[in-house]
Amino acid sequence: MPTTLAQQTLLEHYVKKILAAPVYELAVRTPLQEAPALSEALGNRILLKREDLQPTFSFKIRGAYNKLVQLGEEQKSRGVITASAGNHAQGVALAARELGIAATIVMPSTTPQLKVIGVRSRGAEAVLHGESFPFALAYALELAERTGRTFVSPFDDPDVIAGQGTVAMEILRQHQGELDAIFVPVGGGGLIAGIAAYVKYLRPEVRIIAVESEHSACLQAAMNAGERTVLPSVGTFADGVAVAQIGAFGFEVCQFCVDEVLTVSNDELCAAIKNIYDDTRSITEPSGALAVAGIKKYVARHGVQGQTLIAIDSGANINFDSLGHVAERAALEAV
Ligand SMILES: *Cc1c(COP(=O)(O)O)cnc(C)c1O
Repeated sequence: MPTTLAQQTLLEHYVKKILAAPVYELAVRTPLQEAPALSEALGNRILLKREDLQPTFSFKIRGAYNKLVQLGEEQKSRGVITASAGNHAQGVALAARELGIAATIVMPSTTPQLKVIGVRSRGAEAVLHGESFPFALAYALELAERTGRTFVSPFDDPDVIAGQGTVAMEILRQHQGELDAIFVPVGGGGLIAGIAAYVKYLRPEVRIIAVESEHSACLQAAMNAGERTVLPSVGTFADGVAVAQIGAFGFEVCQFCVDEVLTVSNDELCAAIKNIYDDTRSITEPSGALAVAGIKKYVARHGVQGQTLIAIDSGANINFDSLGHVAERAALEAV
């Protein structure tokens, strides 16, 4: 937890940026919604922060817009380049169109088709390159170097982190009562850094629990090693979080603001997609269900009862034809 003056100063810096982020020119304030069936089943009050209801169907629009809107005129006229597993891509594409900025987006060739369409239909140029995010990232950095366009990181940038942090600002305004923990899905760590910075500054007693796919647990690896290690390989079922190395800016915050890191399996994600469906009649993508899967694991592990736990329901960009597989796997898990 923040103990030194330097740590407090870092958090204050982010809180100021979060409060000033003009994300509502494009993003919406999403509901914080009760999950009655899940609450009943787990013996705790579970609330879902519905970021799957954003334009582009994930929270990424917040960070992307906050970054692009603050570029200088010169940078805006040269255009931007990014690499993304898909959701940041759609956020940048929409923000760029809104601001009249040319955008090129490099996505792994394994990106679900609907995310590629989501980018192209918003007027951005989509380049498919590499089998997973790290390869797409390397190519995007090379393109940025060659063309003079500004590279916009999906997570490793203070303005992106501050944009994502507006999720926490909304949560603390929407829920002023008892709150025990917030569960946050982690890919490159931008979302959790923004949320943790805001929450630990204002309500340090609220636990921040990171939830990762066991096939891309780069925060857990970095926390264990005390430095940002690179995973030798990443699985892409939860494609929104398939990142091999936690971002530097995010890790700086996570090191003293994250209380616990949990990892979950693909089958646990499928079961959590069903839990969310049962309570909301909405389908999330695998990454979007990480936090709910994490809550189930947390309750089982610590045996907590009667607590108030919030899950960030982070996105809904899943190909329709993969739902059969999700339903099949969910049926094998105790849900
Ligand atoms: C990007 C993303 C995440 C993880 O966010 P990071 O800032 O990369 O940690 C989680 N869920 C969804 C749906 C995402 O698109």
